[in-house]
Amino acid sequence: MSLTTVHTVADLRAAVAKWRAEGLRVALVPTMGALHDGHISLTELARTHADRVIVSIFVNPTQFGPNEDFGAYPRTLPDDQKLLDAAGVELCFAPSVDEMYPDGFATKVTVDGGMTNVLCGAARPGHFDGVAQVVTKLLLQAMPDCAIFGQKDYQQLMVIHRFAADLNIPVDIIGAKIQREEDGLAMSSRNRYLTPEERAIAPTLNRVLADITTKAQGGADVGPLLAKGREEILNAGFDPIDYLEIRDGKTLELIGDKVSKPARIFVAARLGKARLIDNHAINPGIERT
Ligand code: AMP
Repeated sequence: MSLTTVHTVADLRAAVAKWRAEGLRVALVPTMGALHDGHISLTELARTHADRVIVSIFVNPTQFGPNEDFGAYPRTLPDDQKLLDAAGVELCFAPSVDEMYPDGFATKVTVDGGMTNVLCGAARPGHFDGVAQVVTKLLLQAMPDCAIFGQKDYQQLMVIHRFAADLNIPVDIIGAKIQREEDGLAMSSRNRYLTPEERAIAPTLNRVLADITTKAQGGADVGPLLAKGREEILNAGFDPIDYLEIRDGKTLELIGDKVSKPARIFVAARLGKARLIDNHAINPGIERT
């Protein structure tokens, strides 16, 4: 079956209804396009959970701040369609902004509390309101059995788990491992913003996270580790660092001097035009993904 692309909610629902009538399981992979192997790995995981895979491509204006890269964000639908077709994805849902937010649209979805006012929530006010709003809409539009999200955006994954449970959205939310380039850089659509010089510097983030993870697991104090990590990231050429923090892997609360339970180290830092994020698990095992 080759890839079909639809642009309206009505056409999306018609395709899903047909599959449902055949008793097939359906997975949704929400993306903003400019697809790379990280996204494709999500479609592969989706395939292990469902008979039909939908990838949505929508650069959602409501999750970008006024001075962020909404206008510059890469839009590469023809290339994306080729990748999805080659990956065996059945349906691409690529709605317009008007289809998602028609005149008169007035509804917000807000996840309150400690999970959204830290890390990217602190650095990008309103970002997770936009994410919760668009993901709620996509889940209700497609009504899939499951939806796949990458741990690359770990805080986003935790926020989605939260509102899907709170709103009784009957969709299994499934987390997928971070895919990296050979030199360790986490794959990201925003890596396209990097100059060759910046691209050579970018893997520093992963290296620093890996180093801190090893030492924290070995029982080292967190404070000095983070201070040294910040220095290395700044020295490499990143500026500014939005955050470099170790938090509980589930609640995202700050942890004390030593890491004695499943936790995550999170970083966000700017390199030229790109704001890059990454995270690593510390003492993994029982964390929820
Ligand atoms: P985006 O298009 O950047 O909004 O990402 C769409 C989905 O792909 C999100 O669930 C991301 O977490 C996930 N994703 C992006 N990059 C990666 C990666 N390197 N590894 C795994 N998942 C990723």
